[in-house]
Parts: sequence; structure tokens; C-alpha cells
Amino acid sequence: VSAGERPRAAVVVTGSELLSGTIPDRNGPWLSRELVDLGFEVAHVQVVGDRPDDLAAALRFAADAGCALVVTSGGLGPTADDLTADVVAAFAGRPMELDEAMRAHIDARLADWAARTGFGGEALDRATRKQAMVPRGALALPPAGTAPGLVVPREGGPLVVVLPGPPRELQAVWPAALDSAPVRELLTAVPPAHPRSLRFFGLPESEIAATLRDLGATRDLSGVEVTTCLRRSELEVDLRPGPSTGAVADELHVELAARHARHLVSDDGRSTDELVAEALLARGWTVATGESCTGGMLASRLVDRAGSSAYVAGGVVAYSNEAKTALLGVPAEMIAAHGAVSPQVARALADGARERLGADVGIGITGVAGPGGGTEAKPVGYVCFCLTTGDGRVLARDPRLPGSRADVRERSTDIAMNLLLRALRAGE
Ligand code: ATP
Ligand code: MG
Repeated sequence: VSAGERPRAAVVVTGSELLSGTIPDRNGPWLSRELVDLGFEVAHVQVVGDRPDDLAAALRFAADAGCALVVTSGGLGPTADDLTADVVAAFAGRPMELDEAMRAHIDARLADWAARTGFGGEALDRATRKQAMVPRGALALPPAGTAPGLVVPREGGPLVVVLPGPPRELQAVWPAALDSAPVRELLTAVPPAHPRSLRFFGLPESEIAATLRDLGATRDLSGVEVTTCLRRSELEVDLRPGPSTGAVADELHVELAARHARHLVSDDGRSTDELVAEALLARGWTVATGESCTGGMLASRLVDRAGSSAYVAGGVVAYSNEAKTALLGVPAEMIAAHGAVSPQVARALADGARERLGADVGIGITGVAGPGGGTEAKPVGYVCFCLTTGDGRVLARDPRLPGSRADVRERSTDIAMNLLLRALRAGE
């Protein structure tokens, strides 16, 4: 399904170190997300090495694809392999000129550093001069590092926004690029994205596909772009309407939420982690974890968010049987009778963590992460979860999870977060 009616944009990421697999590209995905959120249809993300011909070809490719905007990343530094500004200038048919104000600006930024390190003089002057070269008629954006970003118009399009490579710098310069007159003018022609997002837990993609087929039988859904993606065990469904299909998107949004209400995490894009944090805060509850196979991953996930000290009491990694008994009071006889991986022990871990850490909710996890250690009764991927509260509520699960050791441990953490959300919602 395609939205069709949106202006197109492209991203060109430069850097030979990205092509060799030395470092993963962080700018392409970040910029795509930004452009999609602004309402563009992203035509492609190209990654090219530090070779002028390849960069020029990538720019032409984007122009030929009818892109109104191209954003480049990297190659703005002072070394010889930093050639983006030159190539973009040639692409736009604009000669390079020294921007004296920018040179003074970069000089001032580097003065302290040069004095401190002694790396001044001729070498620094040349570097500064190179970085202050701006295509005629282009706009230079104040640098976050030493290289300024550029906004370079081209006769007949596309507009090219040139950003520095280091992700922190790229993200720091981006708002100024958006705020520049040429980009603002371009944005007036971009219909706002207004995406509708739904998140589901425990729902296979095939169910969404079936619902869409069903709804598509009685109405035209072609003007709404539907993307589904599995992230942290949640099925994320994004509905992106075109300029004239907002009502259809709304209808889809409501129908999908209603038909799969049992698995719905949120219908406004909020994540499980966000919702758990909010619900714990709203109740004034604290949570404690007793983890075996996840080895602290759940506790780590719970403290990911700033301000988590308000609702996380703590966690205990009780990996050996002895640790389960000594640290969380799991009776040795219980382990002997039922096994360390059992619903009984999961419950004892939850109770032990909650009581010993003085929390309102306790969560216990024990499972066979694999690849070894599975038995017929308790195969690899068998994981027992239990959540207990001070007021006597108990929520338990013992699924068999697919995948590698890493998959099982990660998915276990996702399931525990979802269990916590369920418990918090149940008592609302
Ligand atoms: P500098 O003045 O720092 O050289 P630059 O604009 O020339 O800025 P690059 O030389 O392309 O940037 O990249 C500098 C460093 O930034 C790279 O070595 C890499 O560590 C990081 N970097 C660049 N592009 C990316 C990217 N797409 N994803 C992740 N890291 C990147
Ligand atoms: Mg560089």
C-alpha cells in the first residue's frame, strides 16, 4: 500500500568506514525517521564511500528519482577524503567561495584548543579555510563541531542539505537546517504526516493482515500506507495517510484497536516501558526483581528511564540454587522437588524479591536459556514467570520461547515487562 501523494526525499550517507562494516550507520536510519515524520516519502538511503564519483552518482540518482530534498551525512572535515561540500557544489553548479565570517567563527571556536594543544599555525589555518568554503548562494549553518552544515539549492531541484558525519554533530545541526528559509519553503508543500500508531503484544502479523483484508473488502485502503514491524516482541503498526485519506486512516486505527483489543498495548505510539513507568508512578508502587536466566536484564530495562528511582526498589540476580535460597529465601526443598526452573520457584523468586526489598510488586524469572540444559519436560526456551503483589495478586506464565540463548533472554525480558503492564492495568 502506498501513500503516493507525498514529496520524496533521499538520504546519502558517506564514509568508507561504513562500507567496510567497520562501524554501523547511525545517520541513515535517524534521518529517515525525521524525514518520514515530517511527511516526506523517503525514496532511498544510499551509503557511498569517500569517492567523488560515487557521491556525485548518488546525488544524480536521487535527482532522477524526483526527490525534492536530499540530505547528506559526513565528509565535511578538513582532510582530503572530506569532499562532500565540493561534490555537492559541483552538482548544484555553484563555485566554492570562502565565507570569511564562517572562517572567523571556526577560528574563534578553535582558538582555545589551539593554544592548549599547540596544534595551531599553518596546518590549522588550512583546515579552517577548507571548512569555511561555501558554495556560492548556499547557506552555511553554524557548526556543532568545526564543520558547518550547508543548505544548497539547485536549479530544478533537489535542495541538498549537507550535514557533518559524527551523529551527535549531525543531530545538533539538523534543527538549524529545518529552520533555514529554503527548507521551510519546501516544507510548506509537504502534507503533515499525522501517523497513527498501534502496538500489540502476542499478536502475529498474520492477524493484522487478515483484518486489513477484511476491511479492504468494503472500502478503499490504498491511500493509507500501512507498515508493520516487530520490535521488542511488540508488533508495531503504523498507519500513514496521504493528504486526503485521514478519515480512512482513522477508521482503520479504530477498527484495528477494537478487533485486537486483547493484545493492544497502546493506540498512541507509547511503548510498554513508557506505560509501565507511568502506571507505577501513578500508583506510587515500587517494583523488585528476582532474576535467574535473564541475569539482571529486567532490572536493567526497568532503570533505563530517567527518574526510575521513584519506582524501582532493586533486583537480585540469583543464578545458582544456593543464591536463590540464600538471597531470596527460595526453599532448597522446593528446588529439589520441582526443579530450579518451575512455576513454584518463579513465584518464590517474586515473593522473595518483593519482601526482601520492601517493594509493592515482585517479578520472578527462571528458565532454560540454552543451548544446553534442556530436558524433555523442560526444553530449551522453557521459562517461568511470576508476578506477585503485596495485596495478594498473582500472575503467572510458563511459555516455551523459540530462538537462541540471546533471543530467549531478550524475549523473557519483554514478556516480564508486558506482564507488569497487565498487572498494573488490571487493578486500575
Ligand atoms: P569530521 O570533521 O569529524 O571529520 P565529517 O563530517 O568529515 O566530520 P566523517 O569524516 O564522515 O565526518 O565522520 C567522522 C566520524 O563520525 C567517523 O569516523 C565516524 O566515527 C562518525 N560517523 C560518520 N558518519 C557516521 C554514520 N553514518 N554513522 C555512525 N557514525 C558516523
Ligand atoms: Mg571527516
